[in-house]
Amino acid sequence: MGHCPICAEAQSFEEPAGDALRVSCARCGEYTMTGDAAEAWRKRTELPPLSSDDETGRVRRLVGNASGWIHDHPGVVIDSARLDALSTVEPPLQSERAARLLRFLGRRLSPGQYFRGVPFSPFAPQGSVEPEVLALAYTDEPREIDYLVLDYLWRHKGFLSEHPQQAEHLTISPAGWDYLDSLNRVNPDSQIGFCAMWFADPMRSLWDQAIEGAIRAAGYEPLVMFKYEHNNRIDDEIVALIRRSRFVVADFTGQRGGVYFEAGYASGLGLPVIWTCREDDLGNIHFDNRQYNFITWESDKLPAFRHALQNRIEATLGRGKIATAGG
Ligand SMILES: [Zn+2]
Repeated sequence: MGHCPICAEAQSFEEPAGDALRVSCARCGEYTMTGDAAEAWRKRTELPPLSSDDETGRVRRLVGNASGWIHDHPGVVIDSARLDALSTVEPPLQSERAARLLRFLGRRLSPGQYFRGVPFSPFAPQGSVEPEVLALAYTDEPREIDYLVLDYLWRHKGFLSEHPQQAEHLTISPAGWDYLDSLNRVNPDSQIGFCAMWFADPMRSLWDQAIEGAIRAAGYEPLVMFKYEHNNRIDDEIVALIRRSRFVVADFTGQRGGVYFEAGYASGLGLPVIWTCREDDLGNIHFDNRQYNFITWESDKLPAFRHALQNRIEATLGRGKIATAGG
């Protein structure tokens, strides 16, 4: 037990894996980091004594974004190249960060159950913030959590309400539960997870070895339209399938117009869309879509991607009802 090389969280376990370190951090989750990358990150985030507030703030944003991104990509391997990409990660929009905290509360609280909201530390010792909460909000600053929970979710949106007698004890309000439901409302009985992706032969292994298994392991029925590979007049049928689906996994590798269309169509219906792309093609994503929180994959690391995708599906929708082998 030491300190996480990325975020310095003390609740972190590290074990050597070759010349890399396998880390399990209460905040960042599971990842592997090479020795070179750990050393470079230490230099990049080291603050000399008497650093200015600007400099301190810059480093804390760097740590907050990196930790949040790693948390969203369980099992990722961080080498020097990945480290450079990590330094340019942008946090999700404010409303999305707040929604992630509300979903976190929704998973932990039953209706009418109160937590002590000020300071916001509902499930951690008083006065400290639960490590995972910082990662969910892509921040290193507990006061940003206070802002998102108290100013945004409670006072501004009314998604939390205060106990009538006990000041600063909060619960999720009916409006908050409605909002959480609305994130899950379209086709609530459907078990179909539809995949929009480029229909090219090299992509078959992505489907066969990762996406199909991830959707199934999360308890949904995976569906893709490979059989229409050479037919361009498939829009009507795909549109009909999307309308019957519970969610869509959209893989943007190859930057196909059809995938952009299908993801946009599903979003417009209010269906959750899970955005994925091959790591080396991520920079080509059309600008309008860059704000989304992509899960990336690499051809030689499909099992890690499959695991990350299953986690994302379950975190977004909860587990589906279709039984999986072995549980
Ligand atoms: Zn960490």
